[in-house]
Amino acid sequence: VRASDHVARLGGDEFTVVLEHADADEAIAHVAQSIVDALATPFTLTAGSGNLISASIGISVYPRDGHAAELLLKHADVAMYAAKADGKGCHHFYQPEMSEALLLRLSRERALRHAVERNEFVVHYQPRVDARSGRLSSFEALIRWDHPDRGVISPGEFIDLAEDTGLVVPIGDWVIREVVAQIARWKSDGERPVPVSVNVSPLQLRNGQFAALLLAALHEFRVEPALVEVEVTESAVVDRSVAVVQQLDAMRDGGIRLMIDDFGVGHSSLAQLHRLDVDVLKVDRGFTTALSEGSEGELLYRAIISMAEALEMTVVAEGVETLAQLRLLRTMGCDELQGYLISRPLPAEQVPGLLHQPVLPPFDKMELAATA
Ligand code: C2E
Ligand code: MG
Ligand code: MG
Repeated sequence: VRASDHVARLGGDEFTVVLEHADADEAIAHVAQSIVDALATPFTLTAGSGNLISASIGISVYPRDGHAAELLLKHADVAMYAAKADGKGCHHFYQPEMSEALLLRLSRERALRHAVERNEFVVHYQPRVDARSGRLSSFEALIRWDHPDRGVISPGEFIDLAEDTGLVVPIGDWVIREVVAQIARWKSDGERPVPVSVNVSPLQLRNGQFAALLLAALHEFRVEPALVEVEVTESAVVDRSVAVVQQLDAMRDGGIRLMIDDFGVGHSSLAQLHRLDVDVLKVDRGFTTALSEGSEGELLYRAIISMAEALEMTVVAEGVETLAQLRLLRTMGCDELQGYLISRPLPAEQVPGLLHQPVLPPFDKMELAATA
């Protein structure tokens, strides 16, 4: 900024820049972009290099967006929320129609905060099976919001908002404790539980507490680390910030298996994942949907499976919905399957029933075993 401009910290992590006698919007946008760029430069802490922060900037202009300081600040705030919602690291000029969108967002955010306070979440469990034998190999823990008026809401409707607002951290902490406690309950009921994987958001990893929390919960509930697995997306590990790598190392040292979720839609290379000691690739449902004999989907799957095999990673197919997909995946040598064909995600009470079944549908039909 110029020497004649003003910079103030209003509170928390919010700063205000006042540009006096600014000319055109382009000139203001230019300043905003320089600030975003300056903050985006990686910096070094004693813990290591490559640390990153980002900024979102909202802009209001006098007198167009208000005549009083309060209103100008309020509108800049609204525009900043719009910038955040647009993926952060950018700037937005205030527009009157933003206010309504913001009000809606704020009310959704308030509802989600209440849900966290009142503990309105439940975890469902979706089985994964061995592709050859059809035996249960593990479960994925999937959160649901049990809304008092609206009923069960799937994570697709609130996880993004939880990420944007940071609420994904307390929600994720709850999921971890709930899953570990549930495994302990199954054990004390005399069951022999299989491993359960938990989805972890990049924000939880960057926050730096995740591994310690998970290991502490395992210790508290006396659950072996081998019974918990962690799913992260490619983008979370490709970021390679010091905090994330430390979290992944701490989990691996603690004996927890690492899985890459939605593999194939991000920009990671297998070499990168190998260096991070990833144990399991969960191939994105999109590839499974595209599977049919002689299709491009089949080619891609074959390539992923052979590379993963060479690197000693396990391959899980996500979203298996048809027998045709199941057959193809078996013949291609895919290790494990997950999808509605085998089972939808189930409430915890129904898990013991699956633990006792020798093989899961549709493997229980002899006709399939013959093609093995
Ligand atoms: P994901 O981790 O890739 O989970 C798989 C999603 O695909 C689940 O949706 C599951 O119900 C759905 N699915 C499984 N089999 C099939 C199938 O055969 N066909 C179709 N169409 N869908 C199938 P869900 O439970 O709605 O979860 C959506 C996403 O929300 C998850 O994708 C995950 O990224 C996120 N999520 C779920 N639970 C948590 C959590 O505890 N923490 C965090 N951070 N994210 C979570
Ligand atoms: Mg997952
Ligand atoms: Mg997935």
